[in-house]
Parts: sequence; structure tokens; C-alpha cells
Amino acid sequence: MDSSANAAFIARITALAGELEQQSFPDSALYVVATPIGNLGDISLRALKVLSLCAAIACEDTRKTRQLLARLNIDKPLLAAHQHNEREVADKIIRRLQAGERIALVSDAGTPAISDPGARIVDAVSRAGLRVIPIAGVSAAVAALSVSGLIADQFHFIGFLPTRDKQRETILSSLKDSAATLVFYEAPHRIVEAIDAMTRIFEPSRRVVIGRELSKVFEQIHRCPLSEAAHWVASDPNHQRGEFVVLIEAAAAIDNDGLNEAIRVLDILLEECSVSQAAAP
Ligand code: SAM
Repeated sequence: MDSSANAAFIARITALAGELEQQSFPDSALYVVATPIGNLGDISLRALKVLSLCAAIACEDTRKTRQLLARLNIDKPLLAAHQHNEREVADKIIRRLQAGERIALVSDAGTPAISDPGARIVDAVSRAGLRVIPIAGVSAAVAALSVSGLIADQFHFIGFLPTRDKQRETILSSLKDSAATLVFYEAPHRIVEAIDAMTRIFEPSRRVVIGRELSKVFEQIHRCPLSEAAHWVASDPNHQRGEFVVLIEAAAAIDNDGLNEAIRVLDILLEECSVSQAAAP
């Protein structure tokens, strides 16, 4: 970006930040704040505002959140809220919200409560009659779906598969005929096994999209038939590094264009004739 374009960009951000001054950020509310999955630029202005306004930030890993906050130049007290203490932390948060504070909840990356802690805290806070406000932002699953080219009118988010072979195969077998695009999260040390299991269970011609290191320097989005996915993963050690979202095309991919056209024609016919006439071959 040349310097005048950069100055205009900074002016736009400043103006947008000014607009946020007009918005209300109620107190006595828990703010569930999405944070970047790798690229700091994905932090939203609302997230910045709420993290700056809140009295404390409940987070999965205080060390990771401190690093993020340092990069954002925000200094706030942190409350450790991991999967083993969510209920106790929820009680503390409820007391603070009842005293009129704003508390933010973040996870290590992406949207809290999506394959991450947070749901129990949100549930307890809302059951206590207190407000929970989403500060929407990135989630790896949605980022991957958006660039997959797969029809995602319906998608089934599975997240992490079990580590044990038998349980993993049972779950994959139960999903074999799903008419929804399947969304998996996978860790680098398990990507080979996961793709192998998928290849054994699903139709080899189904399309797979592997989103690796999304929003980061070495981002890759690889699309291929499932029959070729194991080879791609094995073909380069880098293809087994980093963070992964694996998407599998819906079973017997529904021809949505054809379906929509059939519905359109049926609507026209129904204006002119009875249901039985319209449906007649
Ligand atoms: N709450 C997060 C979200 O909203 O996406 C997900 C947290 S889950 C513990 C972490 C997993 O998300 C990773 O193991 C990986 O499967 C996926 N993930 C996170 N960041 C990613 C990225 N930059 N690229 C690809 N996958 C990512």
C-alpha cells in the first residue's frame, strides 16, 4: 500500500473506531469475544473495544491470552477458565456481573465454545438471568467452509474426532450418508490417521478440502478427491504441519441448482393448476 492509501486506510479505521463511541456496551454483561486464529489483523474493532472496556478477561490459557493482549497493547486482569474449572469460574463471573462489571470471555484462538471451553460459563451466566453478548469474529470452521467451494447450505460440525481407531471409525461410519458437508478439526500429529480413516469409510470420489494454517503465512487450501488426499498429505512434510480443518463433501452431493430449478417450475405450475396436475409426470 502506498503512503497516501495507507493514510486513508488509517483514517477509515479511526473513523470507524469513532463510530463505536456511539454504541452501547452494557455493563453487567458477559461478552463472548472471538479472537484471531493466526492473523492479528482479524481482530475486530468491537473486540478491541470490549477487551479495553471490561473489568477482567476470562481465558483458557492465561499465558496465551497475555501474549495476545500484549500485541494489542491491552492490560487487564485475567481469570483462568479452562475445561476443568468452568463451573467455579462461572460462579465468580456471575458475582462480578451482579456487581455491575463487564467481563469478557476469550479462548486461545477463534470463537469461544467452538471446540473450546466457554459453553458452561455462558449457560451458567444466562441461567442466572444475566446478559451474554457475542462479539462475533473468526472461527476456523467457517473460514474453511467459506473458501471450500463446497455447498454448505447444510454443514455438520464434528470438530475433533476421537483418538482411538475404533471410536473414530464408528463416528465416521455414522456420518457416511449425511447430506451435509462434514467439518472436522484435526491436529498435525493425527492428520495422516484421520485422512486414512476417512478414505477407508467414505466414497473415494467425494471431494475433500484441507484448510491448513488459515490466515497465517503458510496458509494452504487444498482441494482433491478423497482418494488423492492421503497422497497429498504424505507428499510433503509441510503438509502435516500446523492446524487443519478438513471438509468432506456431502454424500451423494445434492444438485442444488437442479433442485432449485425444479422448485421454481413447480411454483409456476401451482399458480395455474391443482397439486395433482402440477405433480403429474
Ligand atoms: N474455537 C476455535 C474456532 O473457533 O475455530 C477452534 C479451537 S480448536 C481447540 C483448535 C482447532 O481449530 C485446531 O486444532 C484446528 O483444527 C482448527 N484451527 C484453529 N486455527 C486454525 C487455522 N489457522 N487453520 C486451520 N485450522 C485451524
